[in-house]
Amino acid sequence: TLPRLPVFEAIARHDPESTAVIHSSSGRRFRYGELLGDVCKVRNRLYETAGRDDIDGERIAFLVENSYDYVVTLLAILAAKSIAVPLSPAFPAPELQYILNHSEALLLLSSAKFTSKAEEVLKTELDVQPAHLRLDKFQGNGAHEKVTLEKSGPGAAGMMLYTSGTTNRPKGVLLPQSVMTAQARSLLQAWEYSPSDHLLHVLPLHHIHGTINAIFTPLFSGSTIEFLFPFNADAVWRRFAAPFLTPDQTHNSDSPHHHHRRITFFTAVPTIYSRLLTAHKALPPDMQSATRTAVSPANLRLAISGSAALPTPIKRAWADLSGGNVLLERFGMTEVGMALSCGLDVADRVDGSVGWPLPGVEARLVDVDTHQVIEPGRERDPVTGRERAGEIQLRGPSIFAQYWRNPEATAREFVDSKDGRGQWFKTGDVAVRRPVEGAGRSDLPSQRDWARGDLYFILGRRSADIIKSGGEKVSALEVEREMLALPEVAEVAVLAVPSGKWGQKVGAVVILDREHVPDGKWSPLEMRRALKGRLASYKIPQVLRVVDHIPRNAMGKINKKMLVKEIFVDEFS
Ligand code: ATP
Ligand code: MG
Repeated sequence: TLPRLPVFEAIARHDPESTAVIHSSSGRRFRYGELLGDVCKVRNRLYETAGRDDIDGERIAFLVENSYDYVVTLLAILAAKSIAVPLSPAFPAPELQYILNHSEALLLLSSAKFTSKAEEVLKTELDVQPAHLRLDKFQGNGAHEKVTLEKSGPGAAGMMLYTSGTTNRPKGVLLPQSVMTAQARSLLQAWEYSPSDHLLHVLPLHHIHGTINAIFTPLFSGSTIEFLFPFNADAVWRRFAAPFLTPDQTHNSDSPHHHHRRITFFTAVPTIYSRLLTAHKALPPDMQSATRTAVSPANLRLAISGSAALPTPIKRAWADLSGGNVLLERFGMTEVGMALSCGLDVADRVDGSVGWPLPGVEARLVDVDTHQVIEPGRERDPVTGRERAGEIQLRGPSIFAQYWRNPEATAREFVDSKDGRGQWFKTGDVAVRRPVEGAGRSDLPSQRDWARGDLYFILGRRSADIIKSGGEKVSALEVEREMLALPEVAEVAVLAVPSGKWGQKVGAVVILDREHVPDGKWSPLEMRRALKGRLASYKIPQVLRVVDHIPRNAMGKINKKMLVKEIFVDEFS
């Protein structure tokens, strides 16, 4: 028996013969009918290892590759009413140590593949020594076991995800199962997942993007999750193309069965789209045409981008390649899941915008200096006529409960509301709201009526992207957007560089597009000329550095505080 969690109820209702998970490389398939039986088995192994069957609210860390076993483990921990703490196999030992200590994990579960990695970490000195559970072989013997859902409540079941650590040490974000469920329900409504969706999963599994959007939510809808990991652009293109190649073209008449199913749903970060676009140019002609068909709107129902700002050139290039399959951009964070999203209607996927608050999410903009709420319709200052930017604040059932063992941070990031309807979470991201002609149409079907009104445009993080230069505020993201539109610029990070005169000045770190700048030289003067007329003069970078590489973390994010010190080292004195 399992507790009656909404996710289990949903899984129990799906067609037992339908495919829940596929391992892309081997073609191994696992059906919805076997999932809950396996969840029971692993849950019991957790009880055995813990030596008791009351592990309500205990943290259980796990190191499992992207596979059916990951899905089973996650659900088994929820079934035990414990808190799932997924670890990344890519973390070095000290990072794993930090999380095991910080979360005070009772157990560390590892798959066969990562047993030695787990043992290595367990040998080091830890504050609390977790017991080790080795999950040696794949679950999934194909047996359909009858599992009953009992009346018992969810206890403290949930998940703890660590933030990406872009601005600081990663924080532990506690997401109770009710919050995870609210996030899933919101996405089900907005993105209309269905049993006929076949999702290609290429993301790491210790972030909200890979877990909630691409595992937990599809389990609710009975979609198929196909794991292809680690990400490899050629392998992804081969998989997209497979259903559209003749046996002759695949050079393999017995290609795995699942390769006949087309991918309908894909979600990734901008750097992944960028790498796919680059790799596409090198594909042979038959593969190019098959992949174009595969990602056209007729086949790939939805391609989503998020976790970092989507550069417009990437969005345009993808739309060109796919015959008009415009990427849908959304904004999310570990603490809130997905909060804002563009709509399913293609006219709603406005360049540079992250759309509207998702169903169930309440959002507001708050002026960073005056702390005044920027009411809808008051987006322009009545005196100066200037656009008013504000911090995005959020509330609703999909917002996290607290930072783990960090009441100070929790208290700092929430503000009381005057209407008594719950606190607002301060995202730390700044945005503007703008009306856009043709977007947010009122004749959409009613379940899409959240996609209405003025759109949100992200200007960046308060702490790193809003540059205060001589009394003006400059959005690094806005400058990056304009610079990316220049043919010379392949990649860019705009940074706040300390300045005796201005407080801060706008600095740009650029990777040049070698097709347009073969000699690799681009002077600040050339840059300024190119940006003139595109940006107000105070927004045009005052300092420029040309580099070969801009470091990013696994989710494609740049640690700007670190980068600015590395690159503009001479400006810090
Ligand atoms: P840390 O909180 O540890 O510094 P982090 O904020 O990068 O790390 P995440 O929770 O993974 O950790 O990322 C959330 C952040 O990602 C958001 O606050 C926002 O700055 C950025 N982000 C997500 N989606 C978008 C988007 N579509 N456009 C711009 N920024 C985005
Ligand atoms: Mg953050």
